[in-house]
Amino acid sequence: MSVSELYRGVWADMLQKENRFYGGVDAGGTTFKCGVFDDRWRLVESKRVPVTHPEKTIAACIEFFRKIVARKKGTLLSLGIASFGPLNLDKSSASYGSLQITPKPGWSGQPMKRLFESQLKVDVEIDTDVNGALLGEQTFGAARDCNSSAYITVGTGIGAGVFANGGLIGRPSHPEFGHIAVRRRTEDENFVSECPFHSDCLEGLASARAFERRYGVARKLSDSHPGWQLEADYLAQACRSLYLSFRPDRIILGGGLMQAKGLLEKVRQELNIQMDGYAGVSEDLVRELVTLPGLGDQAGVTGAALLGAERLEKEKPAIS
Ligand code: ZN
Repeated sequence: MSVSELYRGVWADMLQKENRFYGGVDAGGTTFKCGVFDDRWRLVESKRVPVTHPEKTIAACIEFFRKIVARKKGTLLSLGIASFGPLNLDKSSASYGSLQITPKPGWSGQPMKRLFESQLKVDVEIDTDVNGALLGEQTFGAARDCNSSAYITVGTGIGAGVFANGGLIGRPSHPEFGHIAVRRRTEDENFVSECPFHSDCLEGLASARAFERRYGVARKLSDSHPGWQLEADYLAQACRSLYLSFRPDRIILGGGLMQAKGLLEKVRQELNIQMDGYAGVSEDLVRELVTLPGLGDQAGVTGAALLGAERLEKEKPAIS
């Protein structure tokens, strides 16, 4: 080996040793998406872990992070978890970072934050899955140029997060926007709400679960099925409430049901009708206001990693 080759080798080794990573876990109800980002916020590697028993699922996530860090000879600077709920997010509580009562077998009370922290020996930040997705979109996605934004996830449940004044609203708790009241459509008067608490809430009437109980599997329906109009009406009511309450620059509609072709446009049309020009809301404004996620299904894992990085003040990500 020549001297220059030797130097190159030493230099490359030094660079590798300086690999510093941010980890994120998008802990959804059926899959945990784990991702490792480099210090320029490029996704280095990711893995999907199916949700089974907590011990098994969390062990597979831990193994993923350990392997990457060892292979890249790097350091995991932080880890963020954007989790399904309900979660205890009160930092003054002894069970901060734990799941509360959930119908998912074995998961009630799991100390999510502590389990990852103790095994990976790294600081862990935790928040709701919707707040994670919102942070991802606000930093790198559809709301990157906005001062304020909101994210509504329309899946088996419905949740929303709001970003304003430089932070997520509602801490140490989190919004329960899925349970706001909505006005029923006439043809929907006899539908029994999916929510065990409310006969008239957004989640009870407009979640994917409610939608599919009425009409069957969503992805099998044609774009012109009348069910989409009903769904669009309820989601437009949600957008209207959010907009009038907080005046966000952007409302991002994510979650499985929003992947239906044409649904976004129907929500925009309904919102135009419901606003009827109030507060200067025009068709153009609504088009700019209500959008789909810019990061697609990576919003959650990116936002999760950003949550972790938020703790490291001097490591704040540059938005480029
Ligand atoms: Zn409810």
